Amino acid sequence: MKLPKGVEFIIERLETKNHRADIVGGCVRDFLLHKEPNDYDITTDATPEEMREIFSDVRTLDTGIKHGTLTVLYDGEPYEITTYRLDGEYSDNRHPDSVSFTRKLFDDLSRRDFTVNAMCYNPNDGLTDLFSGKADLDNRIIRAVGDPEKRFTEDALRILRALRFAATLDFTIERQTSLAIRKTAHLLKNVSKERVYSEWKKLISGIGAYRILSEYSGVIGVIIPELLEFKLPEKQLFDKARGEIRELSLFALADEYNADELFSVAMMALKSDNRHKNFGQSVLKCLKMKTNTVHELNRLLIALGKEAAIGVLELKILLGIATYENKTLLEELLASGACYRISDMKIDGNDLLRLGIKGRAVGETLNNLLYLIADGKLENERERLLDEVAKSVGK
Ligand code: ATP
Ligand code: MG
Repeated sequence: MKLPKGVEFIIERLETKNHRADIVGGCVRDFLLHKEPNDYDITTDATPEEMREIFSDVRTLDTGIKHGTLTVLYDGEPYEITTYRLDGEYSDNRHPDSVSFTRKLFDDLSRRDFTVNAMCYNPNDGLTDLFSGKADLDNRIIRAVGDPEKRFTEDALRILRALRFAATLDFTIERQTSLAIRKTAHLLKNVSKERVYSEWKKLISGIGAYRILSEYSGVIGVIIPELLEFKLPEKQLFDKARGEIRELSLFALADEYNADELFSVAMMALKSDNRHKNFGQSVLKCLKMKTNTVHELNRLLIALGKEAAIGVLELKILLGIATYENKTLLEELLASGACYRISDMKIDGNDLLRLGIKGRAVGETLNNLLYLIADGKLENERERLLDEVAKSVGK
């Protein structure tokens, strides 16, 4: 494995001080899958105090030091080094009541969630794989480390992580692990909404999302009660859509008439950001608008703006009620400089004031003109628009 310079530096430095250090977890998994890792976590037998001493001459951040993590900055890049840890009892189905440090690599690997996430590697010792993670990776299997029911009861977020990894890697979940997921799924209600939502977004974007959603619909009902009984659209179309649109399709199919409200309640509970909530609500609200002709598409643009209008087309395609041609037409319309905002028009409020229009009537007139342009009844040309206004005020 080719390691970044910063990682090599850290591992070598710890080894010269007679400690062991390995990259661990997601980065090893990604390496073996020939994927670029997001970040590199390093695990070591050195205690936090020893690490601080060993890296006293380089820039470090010790915000996580209580949990055994020291961040070393190398070339401006942060690398987290964590002392081998042993988690204490879990009484809240999420966080260990205490953590203790240990000199045993075995302990640190045993506390990790899945076999594919419990491998470590350094150039001296090569791959350390105490739970057959490599075999599971080759066979595309997500399997809990140790007793799955115990591990999910300790930390219920792992239930959702299992589904997320299965969806993003397109792996199957091993039988005992799968049974334990179904048995302990109710514990997910104890997990913070932010954490749930961040896993959910990755899950639904995964290439295996369709299969996981069909197989584990009961778990989805726990994290999103509004989707207690959701239906899935056609798989082929679902697979082609992006995560945000896939998510909306579940709501659209759950309740044809109140999908936007259902979505809004769910997103509020999950503490999703406002952009996403507003986007989804707008899209769901306008699903019934017609989108076949240029004029219809222009009206959609006026109602929603560019981003949500494209969202409507994508969702309608996913639901089988619009075609790719409809979306292409919208894109062509946008590329040709569609007029769908007041600011796109060749006249503005000042022109209307000069023609004697006052107060609220200014906005209303501009709006009416915008629809006339959208419907192709008026050209977006300054003289034509001024004539039209003059006619309407009898000048
Ligand atoms: P990603 O690609 O999303 O970063 P990751 O596997 O690196 O995936 P992280 O959340 O970055 O996930 O965690 C790093 C490692 O820490 C994991 O690979 C796993 O070994 C361990 N880990 C993370 N969360 C848990 C958990 N809830 N329970 C047990 N081990 C965990
Ligand atoms: Mg990671």
